[in-house]
Amino acid sequence: MGLVVQKYGGSSVADAESVKRVAKRIVETRQAGNDVVVVVSAMGDTTDDLIDLAKQVSPVPPARELDMLLTAGERISMAVLAMAIANLGHEARSFTGSQAGVITDSEHGKARIIDVTPGRISSALADGAIAIVAGFQGVSQSTKDITTLGRGGSDTTAVALAAALGADVCEIYTDVDGVFSADPRIVPAARRLPVITYEEMLEMAASGAKVLHLRCVEYARRFNLPIHVRSSFSHRTGTWVTADYTGNDPEGNPVEQPIIAGVAHDRSEAKVTVVGVPDKPGQAAAIFSAVAGSGINIDMIVQNVSGAATGRTDISFTAPRTDGAKAVQALEKIQGEIGFESLRYDDQVGKISLVGAGMRSHPGVSAKLFGCLAEAGVNIEMISTSEIRISVVVREDDVNTAVTAAHTAFDLDDPEGGAVVYGGTGR
Ligand code: ADP
Ligand code: ASP
Ligand code: MG
Repeated sequence: MGLVVQKYGGSSVADAESVKRVAKRIVETRQAGNDVVVVVSAMGDTTDDLIDLAKQVSPVPPARELDMLLTAGERISMAVLAMAIANLGHEARSFTGSQAGVITDSEHGKARIIDVTPGRISSALADGAIAIVAGFQGVSQSTKDITTLGRGGSDTTAVALAAALGADVCEIYTDVDGVFSADPRIVPAARRLPVITYEEMLEMAASGAKVLHLRCVEYARRFNLPIHVRSSFSHRTGTWVTADYTGNDPEGNPVEQPIIAGVAHDRSEAKVTVVGVPDKPGQAAAIFSAVAGSGINIDMIVQNVSGAATGRTDISFTAPRTDGAKAVQALEKIQGEIGFESLRYDDQVGKISLVGAGMRSHPGVSAKLFGCLAEAGVNIEMISTSEIRISVVVREDDVNTAVTAAHTAFDLDDPEGGAVVYGGTGR
């Protein structure tokens, strides 16, 4: 008996049948004597379809209106799910993010939660109802406009509500059995990780493993709230995301800490190269100030050694593809001032990252990664590292080959095989 916060992703509520299946699962949790708060995503690929619709009427839709449009997706699923629960004889009340007290800053499309005031959720629970909350959305404290938290943001809604309501755990239900050593859609031999630390999961999420939203992991770590990632299509134990390996998962099963937790990949970035930058102090500062001024987050940066004859160098960086056009525009504006020769934009790149806390104490991990990529015929274009991560940029077409090669080289393949993907389109 306690308070349970459950989040169901888009593929878990893709159609009427799925909604009814999820409703049954929620009612079972309620009947076991728990108070239940459910966070729900838009049905299936609704968010992508709404983005496509917006682009048909405006190539660069105003951010405020795009947020207003996208939040409609979660409003549909919350109401439909509440109806399905009512049909099973239980009271469920749906709430928008704003009604649930999810207060954010005013950055449309990537708003951050700054406060959670779930008074209406607590009242609904006190009345014996199941509370259903639309994920991925909030209301700006300053402008009072409706905001979204970025793609995949419903995970963050769930963790933020769980923390604010004092839940013991946040359950994230999705279309795979937990967090795996690689995306099961690419590597069928991926193994389920019984436990992963916040630290490793942060690196995995930041490196493109979209099974959890990055901010949700940051939030859970801040409040030391365990997350249980599991499938809504099975009753198997999933993956516990917690502070550290204690030798057991929170259910008491023994767990060994691997050297490498997994391989993540990301196809959402583009590479920009500023060609022929005069090699003198202040140039990098000017280039990256211009890009930052447009609100763009840079990921990797590489600066070449300048050619002795020319006194010029090339600087490449990666940034989200969705910000690619903005980055190029910002740089074109300062071309005269800096005097670089040209710009190259490449959105046919992908990134693969090896993540594991064991890297700190095991030498040779980079050499082994680069070696296995060479053997697989994959060319490396950029490299970056953190204490527990190595990332490389490769051709987008090489991503699957690179992920599979690294997974095998680091002995991550599960001999039993058979990671199950229950639903979703992987879009
Ligand atoms: P939801 O709609 O439930 O939020 P997402 O599509 O956002 O689901 O996230 C689940 C998907 O994440 C899986 O179907 C899988 O393809 C992908 N994924 C990527 N990396 C991993 C990983 N390391 N472990 C598990 N799933 C992963
Ligand atoms: N529906 C939103 C998306 O597709 C949010 C989420 O699913 O978490 O990104
Ligand atoms: Mg998701």
